[in-house]
Amino acid sequence: MPELPEVETLCRQLNGFLPGAKILGIDILDPRLGKREVEGLAGRKIGGIYRQGKYIRIEMGKRGQNPVISEPGKGQKKIKPKRSDDRLTAALHLRMTGRLLWQTSGGPAPSYTRLIISFATGRLILIDPRRFATFCIRPVETAPALVANPLEELPSQSLKKIAEKRRLPVKSLLMDQRFVAGIGNIYACEILYHAGIDPRRQAGGLSGAEWRKVQKASATVLPRAVECRGTSISDWRDLFGRSGENQNHLEVYSREGKPCHRCRGTIERTKIGGRGTWFCPACQR
Ligand SMILES: [Zn+2]
Repeated sequence: MPELPEVETLCRQLNGFLPGAKILGIDILDPRLGKREVEGLAGRKIGGIYRQGKYIRIEMGKRGQNPVISEPGKGQKKIKPKRSDDRLTAALHLRMTGRLLWQTSGGPAPSYTRLIISFATGRLILIDPRRFATFCIRPVETAPALVANPLEELPSQSLKKIAEKRRLPVKSLLMDQRFVAGIGNIYACEILYHAGIDPRRQAGGLSGAEWRKVQKASATVLPRAVECRGTSISDWRDLFGRSGENQNHLEVYSREGKPCHRCRGTIERTKIGGRGTWFCPACQR
């Protein structure tokens, strides 16, 4: 399942070449995505691409110039722009198994292709075997404020305040998308290992100093994962179909029975909120 670093990787890669490109056409291959959503998108130019939590937001400009009509004897008059000429944002969420692929060569679309956005230089393809990914179009002004790195931006004091009201393990709180947008199972395990905090502890019991450790750990773990273009444990691939490299840097995730890199003790596995959780009982208190 793509988490914050994987989605950030896609956004950065898209931002590298897509802004300014004009949409030539959109093909929806899965009726579940809804044809109505993409009406009127052809002809629009891509603006910026942003990550918000695990959403990929693609801004699209107006459809070219407003048409000009000539009226005999009255000169030229511009037609008033319609609602459909407003700027739009496409919000894409990959959910469980969605991925994006940039294809410059022709040829058939890969298996499980659900959506194809065509440009002069190539096409952007949404592939999703389990069909949970969502794609919807909104006017630009209703797009909520952008979140860069939720943990970096939230001061540790407010993390503590939010946590005090919640009765659940700290790991579950980190994975709560209403609290921190973008952290899933892999990175919650890694962040808590780096912070030296036992994932089973009640979130409300962490001190301000401990929340600062969580904050610092996430500011190390997440950017490094972005540098590595994400973690390819199962099916994650970047925009160009390459595996990420962060799986080579994981310190606890999926390492039960192996030695801890810090204390040489043994990494253990437990379940929290139904999800496999890995930690070092000696280093994480
Ligand atoms: Zn250890």
